[in-house]
Amino acid sequence: MRILLTNDDGIHAPGLWEAARALRPLGRVMVCAPDREQSGVGASMTLQIPVRVTPFPAQVEGVEAYTVEGTPADAVIIATEVLWDSPPDLVVSGINQGANLGEDVLLSGTVGGALQGWFRGIPSIAISLCTLNNFIFGPSALVLRLLAQQIGEGSLPRPLLLNVNLPNLPLEKLEGVEVTRLGRRSYAEVVRHGDDGRRKWYWIARSRPVWEVVEGTDVWAVRHHRVSITPLTTDLTAHPLLPALEGVAKALAEGIRVAPD
Ligand code: MN
Repeated sequence: MRILLTNDDGIHAPGLWEAARALRPLGRVMVCAPDREQSGVGASMTLQIPVRVTPFPAQVEGVEAYTVEGTPADAVIIATEVLWDSPPDLVVSGINQGANLGEDVLLSGTVGGALQGWFRGIPSIAISLCTLNNFIFGPSALVLRLLAQQIGEGSLPRPLLLNVNLPNLPLEKLEGVEVTRLGRRSYAEVVRHGDDGRRKWYWIARSRPVWEVVEGTDVWAVRHHRVSITPLTTDLTAHPLLPALEGVAKALAEGIRVAPD
C-alpha cells in the first residue's frame, strides 16, 4: 500500500510522526507537510509565488519525507502530481492537534489537505485529536492504522473522504466508535486588539466554544468519549432551496429581459 501523509500543524508536529509510525507497517509512506503551522488555512493553495520543497530527515525509519513552504493543500497537490510517479492509494492528514468538528471542517487545514486527495479520487482521511494539550496519540494512531488497513483491503466504499475525531483519552477509557454526521459550529472567533504605539493590531483567535451537542453528530460522539467517523462529501448545494429559488430565477430573467422559454 502507498500512503501519502500530510498535516496542518507542520513537519515538526508529533501527531504527524505518530501517524507515520502507525502507517509504516502497511507499506510505503511518504510524508509531505508544511514547514510550519498552517492550522485554519482550510483548502487554500499557493498560486502567486513558487512553492519550495525540501527533503526532510524522517523521524520514522523507512519513511521518505519532504517539507513544503506552503499549505497542506499545496503539499498534497505537489506530492500526488510530482513526487509520486502514480497516485498513492491513500491520503492521510493528521493526526491534528485539536478538534475538527462540525462546520469547522470548512476552515480546517487538516481537512483541506485530505480534500486534495478526495478531488483526485484517492481515498482520504483527516484525523484529529480533540485537545490542545497533553496529547494521547496512541488510540488515534491505532484507529488510523485499522482504517487504512481496511481501505487497503478494499473493504470500504469509494470515493471516500473520512473526517475522524477522537477524544483525548487512553484506549481503555474510549466508549466506542460512532459513524456520525457533522454537527454545527464548534468554535467561534474572539478578536483581541491593541496598539503597538504606531498602529492598531488585531488578533483573531478561535477560542470561544459554541458547542451544540445534538445526538448523532460528531460533536456529540466526542463529548460522549467515542471515536467519531464522519463520511464527507463536497456537494454544498442547498437542495431543499432549489424549488424555492425557481421564482427568483424567473424574476431575474424578466429583469434582464431574457425570454424564459
Ligand atoms: Mn492543526
